[in-house]
Amino acid sequence: MTQINQNFLKLPGSYLFSEIARRVSAYTSAHPEAKMIRLGIGDVTRPLVPAVIAAMHSAVDEMGTFEGFHGYGPEQGYEFLRNAIAEHDYAARGIDIQPNEIFISDGAKSDCGNIGDIFGPDNVVAVCDPVYPVYVDTNAMAGRAGDFQEEIGRWSKLVYMPCVEENGFTPELPKEKVDMIYLCYPNNPTGTVATKEQLKVWVDYANEHQSIILFDSAYEAFVTEENVPHSIFEIEGARTCAIEFRSFSKTAGFTGNRCAYTVVPMELERDGAKLNSLWNRRQCTKFNGVPYVIQRGAAAIYTEEGKAQIRENIAYYQNNAKVILEGLTEAGLTCYGGVNAPYIWMKTPDGVGSWEFFDRILQEANVVTTPGAGFGPSGEGYIRLTAFGDADATREAVDRIKKMLKN
Ligand code: PLP
Repeated sequence: MTQINQNFLKLPGSYLFSEIARRVSAYTSAHPEAKMIRLGIGDVTRPLVPAVIAAMHSAVDEMGTFEGFHGYGPEQGYEFLRNAIAEHDYAARGIDIQPNEIFISDGAKSDCGNIGDIFGPDNVVAVCDPVYPVYVDTNAMAGRAGDFQEEIGRWSKLVYMPCVEENGFTPELPKEKVDMIYLCYPNNPTGTVATKEQLKVWVDYANEHQSIILFDSAYEAFVTEENVPHSIFEIEGARTCAIEFRSFSKTAGFTGNRCAYTVVPMELERDGAKLNSLWNRRQCTKFNGVPYVIQRGAAAIYTEEGKAQIRENIAYYQNNAKVILEGLTEAGLTCYGGVNAPYIWMKTPDGVGSWEFFDRILQEANVVTTPGAGFGPSGEGYIRLTAFGDADATREAVDRIKKMLKN
């Protein structure tokens, strides 16, 4: 009989978003008149900017000609896009990343998951708690997580690093030696960031222990404060211990377009192997590249007009974040994030449970949020709100929550 990957059977059901949908649907069926506002979604809502649309239209036209037709492209991505990324996302910030260290892909989600292919099964993996679930589940599928312990909501072999109010949502170095360390800044779900000094501690640790930092900066475009790093490669020593994931999803509204990239420095070696070569081998074997039209659209965000246009969309979301953060803080709630990230991490009042407060907001304010407990045990007692909605609806949602708290 064919054997299956038994690790898949150990995965708990993807409980969070299905449970949210179930509760929302139960409420709206009983209250069809309720006008729900969704501040739980992690998807963007603003359309693609004109520069991207024009570039994609023009690329479609090219594809209809013999001269401009593109079949299979380079698995690593087209040079025009890799060059633009190296120049605008890195060189412009004084960071030396060469185009051959950049791999274009169809998403940071895929890359964060697929990167595990190049690492052995016995590595000890460290994740933050709360956490973007992809890091956890993909390691579980690869057999690096052990068994899921239902009663504590954790995997037996993963090292969880609590990110809580007391440590400013930045993980402390683990007591045991860890080999693969997932860090995400600006963070989903807490919306918090790490300083250069805090990241330097991790880079030094990883170099000393020959570990690898898997740095997800999918939300770097939302950094507003000057001294907050956009890239792990702003930190001295990172080229010998880090891989970085970036995405056009939130930067340029590409969630439905699918385009992202991963940076693997040439210096990065473990076990005598160059990780850039391993990732190249993996991509060439299992991936056939992002469509030409999409890569042309992505490259358009690096033109002067493209840059200005995506900035406007990001500013729109940043303003939503400000409205949520300031409004809820004014209402007496303790909130984090929202300054350098599109997420606001709101503490529930009086230690009320995440789900209980989620239900209250759902039923009394008709606003859909995300319970923090869904991102890991340390998310209990928090609610995540997102800034990706419509500005008027966001303002209305905040007013409703304020009113609810007054009652
Ligand atoms: N990384 C983090 C932390 C995310 O929150 C998300 C999306 O929500 C992604 C990666 C996925 O990015 P992409 O759309 O490029 O797959």
